Amino acid sequence: MKIALFDIDGTILLAHGAGRRSMERALVAVTGTAGPGGQHYAGKTDRQIVREAMRSSGFSDADVDARMADILEIYLGGLSAELEAQEQERIDVLPGVRELLDACDAHAGIVLGLLTGNLVTGAGHKLRAVGVDIQRFAVGAFGSDHEDRPALAALARDRACAHLGREVHASSCVVIGDTPADVACGQAIGARTIAVATGNFTIDELRQCDPHVVFADLSDTTAVMEAIVDG
Ligand SMILES: [Mg+2]
Repeated sequence: MKIALFDIDGTILLAHGAGRRSMERALVAVTGTAGPGGQHYAGKTDRQIVREAMRSSGFSDADVDARMADILEIYLGGLSAELEAQEQERIDVLPGVRELLDACDAHAGIVLGLLTGNLVTGAGHKLRAVGVDIQRFAVGAFGSDHEDRPALAALARDRACAHLGREVHASSCVVIGDTPADVACGQAIGARTIAVATGNFTIDELRQCDPHVVFADLSDTTAVMEAIVDG
């Protein structure tokens, strides 16, 4: 049995900055500033993004903790509104993803899962915007579960164990993502890692993180399925 754990942004879909815009508006609404700008969001959990933005504006961790819930609530409301208002072409499923998810669903030896820095509610908003039902993922670990992404892989494995009612070895977990943080997250538990260059990182940049496999995109369903099942 393999547990295929998909990242969302840059891996399943591109939201074209909807998350960043919503987060920056929430930060401004609660703290008066979104920080100095130029921050990288890719591969980070939503709580981590808030903390780093507020720290860069000079806030203490106590300030961050006191305002975290308010910022995330405003972020989620803004994200939902922005995704609903967007024209259909502003959020895209990446090449081959629908076919790959269907192939995983149809394979008796694969459990579909999510492993993402998005809050679970935000993950649902983004997936709904491209017509992917979050319920098809039997296992999930989200940015709402933990601020530190590497901790999410162990949580996903624990939830896979609970879902299947038996032990799941880390080597049965396959982390599929578009950033070095996804690869590191999988490596933290000894999972198999598949990197895909449909986000902000090139094939060469991803290869330097030493994933088991790197794809330009997920459009070759047969090759990606082999990488998931035969690893
Ligand atoms: Mg990503």
